[in-house]
Amino acid sequence: MADVAAQQRHFLSGKVEHFTESVIREMTRQAMLYGAINLAQGFPDFPAPAEIKQAAQEAVAADINQYAITWGAKNLRQAIARKMQEWQGISVDPEKEVTVCCGSTEAMISTLLAVSNAGDEVVIFEPFYENYGPDSVLCGAKPRFVKLRPPTSKDGEWTFAEQELRAAFHNNTKAIILNTPNNPTGKVFSRAELELIRNLCVEFNVLAITDEIYEHILYEDAQHVSIARLDGMRDRTVTINGLSKSYSVTGWRVGWAVAPPSITNAIRKVHDFLTVGAPAPLQEAGAVALDLPAIYYQRLAENYRTRRDHLMPALVEAGFRCFRPRGAYYVMTDISAFGFPDDVAFTQYLVKEIGVAAVPGSSFYGDPRDGAQQVRFAFCKRDQTLDEAARRLRKLHGNTQG
Ligand code: GLN
Repeated sequence: MADVAAQQRHFLSGKVEHFTESVIREMTRQAMLYGAINLAQGFPDFPAPAEIKQAAQEAVAADINQYAITWGAKNLRQAIARKMQEWQGISVDPEKEVTVCCGSTEAMISTLLAVSNAGDEVVIFEPFYENYGPDSVLCGAKPRFVKLRPPTSKDGEWTFAEQELRAAFHNNTKAIILNTPNNPTGKVFSRAELELIRNLCVEFNVLAITDEIYEHILYEDAQHVSIARLDGMRDRTVTINGLSKSYSVTGWRVGWAVAPPSITNAIRKVHDFLTVGAPAPLQEAGAVALDLPAIYYQRLAENYRTRRDHLMPALVEAGFRCFRPRGAYYVMTDISAFGFPDDVAFTQYLVKEIGVAAVPGSSFYGDPRDGAQQVRFAFCKRDQTLDEAARRLRKLHGNTQG
């Protein structure tokens, strides 16, 4: 037996031994297996806007069925440039600074492959969206984690210590990955925090790779600031975004990276050989999506606020301590009141016995012990879905210790 296993390992890349399958996607499969309500993977269970579905149908009917330009349909690149100008005041050359990819997931890994060399370090705030870990391993870069600490009061913020961030920067630091609004914490980085990051990037000659996929999902007075907007950052920032979350089309797989021309050239080369291009008709629909009026985004955020305020009280009533998100559509919770040995045991109990799927906190940390008493819930779901989840979660009530 051992020989067979050793022989099979012989065929594998050593890299893949350094990470596991995505726990988020695994929890979706378990939700299907056990008939659980899926509050694990962050995808909406409600329809996308009618006008963009119509645009996609028209594009297929008009036979936009062959490869788009490798780095993106002109229409879409122009719409991306217009939107960044309008919302963040950043002027972008659609011919030289935009690469459209198969989702922001591909934009992130293409960027990391385009910029990293063996021995490079990448600074990542943790908890972090789980892809960034394997992305770094696949690119031969070494992640250096900087802790975001949970709020201590009901309305507090996740924070980092300036000294810890500074200590993570070295001569061989190539990039920092930023995700604001943040998955899984819901933190929205303030301008002052971004300025601090900017100062370190400039001092250590480091690139900022910023995942801004939740830019329009903001609560109360939270404001999204693109770090590329800050003085000194335009030439050292790759801004990643996509259609998935702003337009509720996670399965379309259209995302993009905006970067200065020389970095864009490198990203385009990697992207071309990885995937050739993103789906052509859906890029046309994307151009329509990006031209939706401002009111669309106001409603989007307002609807998500309602959903957040629907799920959070149900979680609190069931015994969770919730960290209120300022943006994105997840709520991180503390599960210590339930007295489970760890987050994985708890989420297994939740999916099998209670009928609700969530993501174990450990999958967002370099060291799983750091997330052993945390669990993430996604609330990008219809009212009925959240009602049913709340009904099931009530069964947990009374299971808490103390
Ligand atoms: N971003 C979403 C999440 O964190 C979905 C991730 C994915 O499966 N691509 O749940």
